[in-house]
Amino acid sequence: MKLVRTIHELRQALEPLRHGSEIGLVPTMGAFHEGHLALFRTARDECDFVVVSLFVNPAQFDAADLDRYPRDEERDGRLAADAGADVVFAPPPGEMYPPGYQTWVEVEQLGSILEGQFRPGHFRGVATVCLKLFNIVRPSRAYFGQKDAQQVAVVRRMVCDLDLDLNLELRVLPTVRDRDGLALSSRNVLLLPEERERALALPRALATKDPERARELLSGLDVEYVEVAEFEPRVLVAAIRVGSTRLIDNVVLDGEAK
Ligand code: AMP
Repeated sequence: MKLVRTIHELRQALEPLRHGSEIGLVPTMGAFHEGHLALFRTARDECDFVVVSLFVNPAQFDAADLDRYPRDEERDGRLAADAGADVVFAPPPGEMYPPGYQTWVEVEQLGSILEGQFRPGHFRGVATVCLKLFNIVRPSRAYFGQKDAQQVAVVRRMVCDLDLDLNLELRVLPTVRDRDGLALSSRNVLLLPEERERALALPRALATKDPERARELLSGLDVEYVEVAEFEPRVLVAAIRVGSTRLIDNVVLDGEAK
């Protein structure tokens, strides 16, 4: 597996594959867990060449959250290699946003509700970095987790609105959970043992698939929202704060249980 830091190096590595090879892209922010590894392994099975991007995108965070975000690049490199990644693209922030940078993608309505309401500017950062990665890598498939259902909805809308959909398939894989039901998240390492216990109310509440019942089960916790979202598929989504850690999760309401 090759670690590359610059867009130029990545383009050079991909150049020989441009004719006839299927390139898979898995955009991530690192601190890998089984949820990430499931995306890497599926990309490995379905594509000729797998690019994992590892970029804690400052444009989608507020400053305090960015500082706290867990990072362990050495471990991530090993895990990505073991799961079959061919390249890990880990650029410094200045490579993605050089001095003078000023172009942003805004997915207006889908980007302003739910997470967008509590994290203003978050999806502008997400959509912009995803479009940049799609342009740099030009993958046939990009892999995302259902765990971030609104992110999928925003990226899907952007891909359609900006006419990228002929060349790019979005693959969305089910949420991977711990044995106790908590959705795996890089942020889970920030939870103290007692906070982790309290956090279990989130998957339990969502498992009811009933917004009223879920709100009852979450009462007493610091709840930001519990809503049915008309994404594809429809989901019951929620965000809570436990101590200083913010957790999001969702369950699919119709079709295949994810
Ligand atoms: P992140 O590094 O948190 O930006 O996540 C990178 C990708 O992994 C995103 O598409 C996430 O939706 C996905 N992901 C994160 N957690 C999980 C999980 N528990 N199960 C499946 N996919 C996940």
